[in-house]
Order: sequence, then C-alpha cells, then structure tokens
Amino acid sequence: MSKEKVISGIRPTGNLHLGNYFGAVRSFLEMQNEYDCMFFIADWHSLTTNPRPEDIKRSVRTILTEYLACGINPEIAPIYAQSDVPEVLELYLYLNMNAYLGDLERCTTFKEKARKQPDNVNAGLLTYPTLMAADVLIHRATKVPVGKDQEQNMEMMRRYARRFNQMYNVEFFPEPANFSLSEKAIKVPGLDGSGKMGKSEGNCIYLMDDPKTIKKKVMKAVTDNGPTEPNSPKPDVIQNLYTFLEIVSTPETYKYFDDKWNNCEQQFYGELKKQLVEDIVRFTDPIRERIREIEAAPERLDRVLKAGAEAARESARTTLAEVRHIIGFK
Ligand code: ADP
Repeated sequence: MSKEKVISGIRPTGNLHLGNYFGAVRSFLEMQNEYDCMFFIADWHSLTTNPRPEDIKRSVRTILTEYLACGINPEIAPIYAQSDVPEVLELYLYLNMNAYLGDLERCTTFKEKARKQPDNVNAGLLTYPTLMAADVLIHRATKVPVGKDQEQNMEMMRRYARRFNQMYNVEFFPEPANFSLSEKAIKVPGLDGSGKMGKSEGNCIYLMDDPKTIKKKVMKAVTDNGPTEPNSPKPDVIQNLYTFLEIVSTPETYKYFDDKWNNCEQQFYGELKKQLVEDIVRFTDPIRERIREIEAAPERLDRVLKAGAEAARESARTTLAEVRHIIGFK
C-alpha cells in the first residue's frame, strides 16, 4: 500500500526557537519517515505583509538551513519554495472562482490580520485560505499538520475540495484531514514567567543562539523566594523551569531538582539554571554545528530547492492536467 500523502507549510519568519522545535519540527522528523511527506516554504504567503526582496531571499534560505540542520531529510521528504511551483497559482485561480466573499471575510485569521494591518487589507490576505488550499490540493494530499490557529482554514480547504467534487460530479480531491501537532507537541514555556515561548512574546531561546546568549537568557529566568512547605504545588514561574528540565534534561536530573523542591531546600535555583544552560547547550550544539556546515557550503541549499521544486512540479502538473480536463479546458 502506498503511504499517505502529507503536506506541510513552513512560514519563513525568522529563526527557529525551542518552542518551534518541540512544538512542530520534532513531529516533522517523525512524519518524514512514516508518510509520503513534502514540505514547502510559504514565501508567497509572506507577501501579504509586503516584505523587501532581500528579506524574502534571506528568510527562505535561513529557514531552509535550520530545517535541514534539525534533520529534515530532502532525500525522503522533498522541500521546496512555494514560489518555485507556479502550478499552484493556476489552481488558486480556479479555487477563487468558487470561494465566496462572505466565507473569506468571516475567517478569524483574516479578521486578525486586517486588525493588525488596517492600512493594508489586501486581496491576498482575504484569499489566504484559497492559496493554502491550493498548496495542499495541488498534490491531492490527505493530511496536513496544523496548529490550532489553522483549523478554520482547514475547514475551508475541505469545503473547496468538496465543492469542486460536487460541482463537476467527480471524486477528485480528497478532503485533507488535520494532523494535529498538539498531541505530540510539548508546549514550551517562556522563561520570563509567561506560559509560552514565542516570537511575539519576545522571550525565545533560538536554536542558533550561542552558549553565551543561552546562558544570559536562562540566568535571567523569573523565579520566586523558594518553596515554603514540603511537597507544595509549584507556582507557574517555577513550573516553567521544571517543564524545561523535563524537555532537555535527563529524568535523573529532573528528579534531583524535584526532590529539592519537595524537601523545601533553599537557594537551589542558581544550580538549576546552570544545569538548564548546560542541557540546552548540549541539545542545541549539534544543530548549531550543522547550521555552520550548511552556511559554509550554501550551494547545498540551491540543490535542495531545485530537487524539491522538480518533485513538487511533477506532482502538481499531474493534478493540474486532470483539473483542466475536468473543468473543460483542453
Ligand atoms: P512563533 O511565531 O512564535 O515563532 P509560530 O506561531 O509561527 O511560532 O508557530 C510555528 C509552529 O511552532 C507551530 O506549529 C506552533 O504550534 C509551534 N510553536 C510555537 N511556539 C511554541 C511553543 N512555545 N510551544 C510549542 N509549540 C510552539
């Protein structure tokens, strides 16, 4: 039996942080072995915010470098830039012809973007769900890994697939299912006391941060005055540190510090932070090393993108030929 087809989009925004790694990238690494996976860097989508040409070029290469360094293997899971596959645009046009303004305007992602950039509420923002649908339907994929924020867009995608099938009385497009990342994902907290590490929160530890930077960020982590009673529950800011230990340290290390908390020991936060620095650095060191290797031989990125585009275009052309035939074009 052939493997299920999974398509995953990657936003080319900045560098990967530990939240991205444990929330998404780690699942991608498992998925690429289990499924017929393709990854694309959504550079057309990024145009909705009018980036400068040099920023687009740099951000695509940066994100590709970091995904490769994390272990995405283009030999088994092609990775391509969306803008290298023009077939997507033709399908986007067809889908737009059957996408209704009311539905598009009701999308939460659209409303949020329109609120964030009121001076630039462009048609690209409005039709983000049809482009996203085209990205996936062009390969007739059956699964898409998505976070919570994309669930509504996935509903739209299924609606467009259904509508096309009904309109032409065919069973052509599968309705792609959500591949929930949240089941396997670990929510990585912020060390500033906030519940989530995120770019907009400004509290990220990046995979490419050097040990000195990591140390600075971890040593600044918010704490309290220490436990007051044995075996008491941990307040959120302290729980955040322990969640981090769970993610990057050994079970023994976790237990060592958990015992300290439960035994009401005092003044061990410094030691805990030092341990965290060591374990985060140990975890990120090989990734940073691979980033440096790729940066020293950047032609590899061109080869990966070229091969990815070829694989994606072949799959896209096959779909598009049938779509044209179904619609009535020669
Ligand atoms: P950011 O803008 O903070 O870099 P995105 O919203 O672009 O993150 O998310 C990219 C992916 O990383 C999503 O799948 C999201 O669920 C995951 N992710 C982001 N931050 C975290 C976090 N702190 N913990 C777990 N997963 C996260």
